[in-house]
Amino acid sequence: MTATLRVCALYPELMNIYADRGNIAVLRARCEWRGLGFELAASSLGEDVDPGAHDLFYIGGGQDRDQIAVAEDMQATKRDAMHQAAARGAVVLAVCGGYQLLGESYTLGDRELPGIGLVDLRTVRGEGERLIGNCAIEADLGTGPRVIAGFENHGGRTHLGPGEQPLGRVLRGHGNNGADGFEGVRRDNVIGTYLHGPLLPKNAWLADRLTELALGVELEPLDDTLEDAAHGSARRAAGV
Ligand code: GLN
Repeated sequence: MTATLRVCALYPELMNIYADRGNIAVLRARCEWRGLGFELAASSLGEDVDPGAHDLFYIGGGQDRDQIAVAEDMQATKRDAMHQAAARGAVVLAVCGGYQLLGESYTLGDRELPGIGLVDLRTVRGEGERLIGNCAIEADLGTGPRVIAGFENHGGRTHLGPGEQPLGRVLRGHGNNGADGFEGVRRDNVIGTYLHGPLLPKNAWLADRLTELALGVELEPLDDTLEDAAHGSARRAAGV
């Protein structure tokens, strides 16, 4: 039987800046090129999530005002299901605004948005400049250290709790908070990152690794001439 990657996009119309939906297009294309099945579902405001029905949950970046609506809705309709999904090993990929909402809280001035507490981190929108620019990090997702390159633009500064591991260490750019040299978070198959680009078109290897983790398979390589060029260009933009 052919494996099928079942993806659920959370709030796709609200949490999609810098063309973050391109991440889904890459997951789909690479499944189709390999003859794997691909199914896409969505869950937005007021809609439940079935924790057992998807292999990979995806949430993109968002503006502060969209995050306010999403944060409240996530508490009400998705928090428990996302904990169950993560506990059974589903992959959760969260980018920027979505990443911030995976943690305990996102504080904007005197307002504190709740996160779903899937990982122990807190984000605070301080007075300082936004952290903007091309960024490259080194991350090891179980196959040795690799570079992830992308673009970041966030006002929030994220600090991981003491038991939490970052996704990678910053080679160039700001990362979680512009101070500690770390970027993103990884706890088992739950991954958060500030990197847009979109992320996966610039890092096809990461799309494949997430698919492997989601399906418990090992994928054969594809002809990635164009994808490697895109990755190289994103690395050069970051100066790596
Ligand atoms: N609104 C958040 C911030 O500025 C996230 C922005 C984003 O997703 N790019 O920190």
